[in-house]
Amino acid sequence: MRCPECGASNLPDAEICVACGEPLDDPTRSEDGEDPRLGRVLGGKLRLDSILGEGSMGCVYAAHQLELDAEVAVKVLHDHVAADPKVAKRFHREARTASRLTHPNTLRVFDFGREDDGKLLYLVMELLDGPDLLELAHEEGPFTARRIDELVGGVLAALEEAHDAGIVHRDLKPENILVVTDHQGREHPKVCDFGLAKLVEAEGSAITVTGFVCGTPEYMAPEQARGEALDARADLYAVGCLLYLLLAGEVPFHGKSALATITDHLTKPVVPPSVRAPDRHVPHALERVCMRAIHKAREQRFANAGEMREALHAAVEALGPLADRPLGSFEEDPTRPKPPTRWRAWHAIVGASVLVGALVWVSSRGPERNTRDAGGGLDASVALRDAGADASEPLEVAPFDAGHDGGPEDGGPEDAGDAGTVVDAGRRRAVAPRATGSSDDGRALFEEGRRRFLANDVRGAIRSFEDAARWRPADPEIQKQLGRAWMRAGDVTRARRAYSRYLELAPNAADRALVERILGE
Ligand code: ADP
Ligand code: MG
Repeated sequence: MRCPECGASNLPDAEICVACGEPLDDPTRSEDGEDPRLGRVLGGKLRLDSILGEGSMGCVYAAHQLELDAEVAVKVLHDHVAADPKVAKRFHREARTASRLTHPNTLRVFDFGREDDGKLLYLVMELLDGPDLLELAHEEGPFTARRIDELVGGVLAALEEAHDAGIVHRDLKPENILVVTDHQGREHPKVCDFGLAKLVEAEGSAITVTGFVCGTPEYMAPEQARGEALDARADLYAVGCLLYLLLAGEVPFHGKSALATITDHLTKPVVPPSVRAPDRHVPHALERVCMRAIHKAREQRFANAGEMREALHAAVEALGPLADRPLGSFEEDPTRPKPPTRWRAWHAIVGASVLVGALVWVSSRGPERNTRDAGGGLDASVALRDAGADASEPLEVAPFDAGHDGGPEDGGPEDAGDAGTVVDAGRRRAVAPRATGSSDDGRALFEEGRRRFLANDVRGAIRSFEDAARWRPADPEIQKQLGRAWMRAGDVTRARRAYSRYLELAPNAADRALVERILGE
């Protein structure tokens, strides 16, 4: 039972409020404990038939629309929420905005009304019959990738419409997504409570009076926790946390208190779902979509809901028939970046030989020539970089896209290396600053390796570092970390190989003496 004075929750038969000491003779309950609103007809049109549930904002009833003989749901705001005139005004405004959203994955809002001189405020909505996504995930998870695509994709489609209309949900969580099944047995997610979070957030009074924090901490974007102005990407962060829940079986952060959870969102690196739940063998491509959505910096997330929906769909499609098997029931992962094929390796060798020849040629042309080149033409270091000798800067490749791994098979660094001979280095230099797509890919794998290493998943770390090294074969840092990881795994031979490669790639490394000592031992 909620206290009409301060809004705190109390046990159903409490006589005084635990928070403020106010007597609790609940005006909405009659002597026999039944809600006296039941049977009441609102606006001469709507009969409240039964209680569907109670939330922080109000009580939701199943109601009968008398003239149309139709069933609807009616949310009646709690007295202490409706009592605030600013909240009441805003509630009306938000209801109006929400009623404009007509996407099939958004809960329809039909009407708004007030009774009892404005003391009773209500919202008339589509009546839904189905569990919320949290219940469903607990009861039926792990889902197949296809089901994840359909559910999360539906939520993203609803967001696309809302975001285009300038509405940010701000309180997306699985409890606010009901899942209904149509007559053909197909599932449809329905996003609820658009506008309501904003309503409470904007009117600080409601927060302090009722004591609830707006935006559920488990799904709260760092910028929301910092109280910054929000945009659509805060909702994408929440969807990322939701996707994480469906992939790993738990949310990325769940601290001992709301504050601890919020702090984690702000500061703690995310443990990838595949590390958190190794038994589920989370496919690489799905994990990448998730990790991108919950990036702490919103510029690094998907730019909009449509982009995330497409990336998720592509990641699921890439699984082929495995998309129809529940996560954890298979270990194969066709979406892992593949090692370079033989002929590509051969091309790389040829490319490197041409490069060395070209460098000899460039340097043999003397200092005068080089000075001139530094001003506007081709200098040796640029040639070296542009030709792909340092694959840390591969060029002219597809931009980062989670649904498209940009692997060696589809235009990754090997391709950049192949084509990157000195012949067209001048042209390549012109495009270099904006074309660092798969370099990011290698870097992302490297970061993933570091996270795994820190999470004590040494095998996983080795896999990631090896994948990263395929993208950035000339990156000494990757070799060093690989050496460390092999050392930790107890494989001295491989550790030595990686450390030696590190010294080859970074002959002037500050820690050379230390590494040489490790190699000597
Ligand atoms: P609040 O957002 O005010 O905290 P909720 O939206 O959580 O309240 O609603 C309380 C309960 O009513 C929830 O269990 C929810 O599943 C149920 N509910 C809300 N809207 C509908 C609806 N349109 N149809 C059926 N059940 C609903
Ligand atoms: Mg709700």
